[in-house]
Amino acid sequence: MDIQALLALQEEDGRLRDLQRELKVLLPGRRDEAEKRLDEAKQRVKAAEAEHLQAVKEFEHFNRQYQRDRDRMARAERNAVGQTGARALAAADQEHRDAAASAAAAEAGMAEAGKARTPTERKLDEARQVEAEEELAVKEIREAVAARKAAVEAELEKVKAKRESLVDAVPPAQLRYYERLKLTRWPCAVEYNRAEGVCTGCNLVQPPSVTQAVLHADKTPNAPLVTCPACGRILI
Ligand SMILES: [Zn+2]
Repeated sequence: MDIQALLALQEEDGRLRDLQRELKVLLPGRRDEAEKRLDEAKQRVKAAEAEHLQAVKEFEHFNRQYQRDRDRMARAERNAVGQTGARALAAADQEHRDAAASAAAAEAGMAEAGKARTPTERKLDEARQVEAEEELAVKEIREAVAARKAAVEAELEKVKAKRESLVDAVPPAQLRYYERLKLTRWPCAVEYNRAEGVCTGCNLVQPPSVTQAVLHADKTPNAPLVTCPACGRILI
């Protein structure tokens, strides 16, 4: 059985498949994975921004309260000046004490909120730093993928041209069988394990007649293709 031309074609088709797989699956996958990482970094920045904004708002809330209380205290002090009536003085005093108590509470709240504000700010800085790094990394990956894509496309053209020249050398009957089988099986031509009578494509043990046919084809140049009864692959 003479199938050297077919085997040469299969080898080239193997290259073709690898390149196509790289183009359609591996390269887009690599790019998508990088974009996903960048998206995640952006999401983390958003979450950190929201968290930090909340901490800042909290701080500002207490800060405003504190400023209002300080104003109230100052007002109470001004009201007390020149007052001679005991009731008016007592009222101003009371107002001052109330404002001071409220200011102290606001100050405590500010301190608490301030403590929360520092870590969220640091977290936000870190998230932004990671985002910047990811952006750079993704840019590099995008460029590398684009460069590799161009190289693969060029290589693919060469392989296709070479394939065209190999096709002509394959006997038409072999070519027809091979092309049809290629749609569902790969590789199409596989080693037949003569000692154990096994097709190495599907790994099934074959009846003795298959081994006989393979041995016969080994010695007969014009013998027809021997195929696996289980998977249809060409046995070599
Ligand atoms: Zn098989």
